[in-house]
Amino acid sequence: MDITTIATLLGNVKTATEIAKAIKDSGATLEGAEAKFRLAELISALADVKIEAATVQEQLLSAQLRIRELEDAATTHAVMRWQQPCYWKPAGEGHPDLPYCQPCYDEHRRLSLLNDWGEGQFRCMVCGKTFETPERIERRRQQNAAQIATRSRTI
Ligand SMILES: [Zn+2]
Repeated sequence: MDITTIATLLGNVKTATEIAKAIKDSGATLEGAEAKFRLAELISALADVKIEAATVQEQLLSAQLRIRELEDAATTHAVMRWQQPCYWKPAGEGHPDLPYCQPCYDEHRRLSLLNDWGEGQFRCMVCGKTFETPERIERRRQQNAAQIATRSRTI
């Protein structure tokens, strides 16, 4: 929120108050034209106050929304846990944790739910990256080693 908006608002409230006091203190001494001029000044000052109050209200709502977003992000961040190859977030009592994309979360704080392709492989449908668990990588490495050994025996 811009603090100068509030300072301007308070300045215009002070101006309006001073004009109103001047009108009150003048009692019956003000001529009709001067009284009308003072009332026009007062109305103008109050119109400025109204506009600035609306601006402050808009900025306050925007700030409250941002605070809520940051609180939600902090709550999410507190419950996220890292386990290769992705982040895991609780899905509620009685439900297994759900996998989320690490690059999407780290770069943009975006929670992109991963598609579980089974056997330790996941895919992010937002950024298109594929992830494998360390167990799957190890299984694949052993299969490759076994294939190489089989080929070398047949040659
Ligand atoms: Zn992603």
